[in-house]
Amino acid sequence: MTTKPVFDVEAVRKDFPILNREVQGKPLVYLDNAATSQKPQSVIDKLVSYYSEINANVHRGVHTLSQEATDEYEGARSKVRKLINAKEEAEIIFTRGTTEGINLVAQTLGVQRVGEGDEVIISNMEHHSNVVPWQVLCDQIGAHLRVVPINDDGELLMDEYEKLLSPRTKLVSIVHLSNALGTINPVKDIVAIAHQHDVPVLLDGAQSAPHLPVDVQDLDCDFYAFSGHKLYGPTGIGILYGKRELLESMSVYQTGGEQIKSVTFEKTIYNDLPYKFEAGTPNIAGAIGLGAAVDYINTIGLDRAEAYESELLQYGTEQLQTIEGLKLIGTAQHKSGVLSFLLEGIHPHDIGTVLDTQGIAIRTGHHCTQPLMQRFQIPATARASLAFYNTKAEIDALVEGIHKTFEVFS
Ligand code: PMP
Repeated sequence: MTTKPVFDVEAVRKDFPILNREVQGKPLVYLDNAATSQKPQSVIDKLVSYYSEINANVHRGVHTLSQEATDEYEGARSKVRKLINAKEEAEIIFTRGTTEGINLVAQTLGVQRVGEGDEVIISNMEHHSNVVPWQVLCDQIGAHLRVVPINDDGELLMDEYEKLLSPRTKLVSIVHLSNALGTINPVKDIVAIAHQHDVPVLLDGAQSAPHLPVDVQDLDCDFYAFSGHKLYGPTGIGILYGKRELLESMSVYQTGGEQIKSVTFEKTIYNDLPYKFEAGTPNIAGAIGLGAAVDYINTIGLDRAEAYESELLQYGTEQLQTIEGLKLIGTAQHKSGVLSFLLEGIHPHDIGTVLDTQGIAIRTGHHCTQPLMQRFQIPATARASLAFYNTKAEIDALVEGIHKTFEVFS
């Protein structure tokens, strides 16, 4: 008697055409999902059908194509709203990605709320895109960046976070799931504590949206930013969720067509949410492709994917720990999908190069988290990052590739 597998990874892999290709004569082992994930056929088909059947500008035309494009575009917004359980579509703003979402908040709410001598709290494990926009804001205004420290496992020191909050704190911006360590931060607590001080919180969801079920109302975060391309969707499209009352109170970011109600040379009246923050012709194909990615994820079920990925992570962690001379960076209790490591005596770039000869794609470098590398006093790591289409056999290939790397450099 055969039992049905809980998560049929072989069936899932068939949905991703790129997983059939070879690299350097070997089957591709794609373990760079934190940088960008691969796209299922349904997303690729959606992009092709948009351009071949309904390409038109949105919100502008009375003609059929424009109406169809608008329906698809707004339909995608609605799918994203459901995915993260926002209250209303008006709270879902299409952006270019996480980076643009964070910059948007820094240059609107940030400029309005933060004054000279005030403080913005981030953490030691932030991606540069959740560091630099706040640094720029602080420099503009004469405010200060405060940084929540982490322990050697790569976990936030929550006591220190609480101590950093003061009447000078005007904003908190923290990553939900670290791209370099895999740490899942206790963001619900982070939000609740900040709210006791009336401080709004932005969550960088670039890594969490593709790997964890997210409910922005349950988290009670004020903003949540993520990117389509890590969520099995196209590049150049992302989402900024914000609570309506905050979005309404915010000044505009970019200005121009689409985001206005009326314009005279004397005065412009801005459009309602979410269009107020969507100046210019948007990435229509990208948004529609993201909608198809959300449909795809719903067929998989993020909760099932999360359970499978965490099994894979556990297996990978156990396997890597058996390798002499390998050190894992990022050993938090609550982790998802990231195996960052060092090999004694070998530079991470060399690891990546040897693995590539085996068809294995990993990321090497500082992962856009230089302050985190400084905290661990290392220049870089080698990072294997997982998705639900990866397999234990691919982890075994990685382990074999690491042994091969040691041989090459011995
Ligand atoms: N934050 C985190 C945690 C990330 O991993 C990334 C992408 N590596 C970003 C922000 C920036 O995302 P994007 O480049 O898609 O704007």
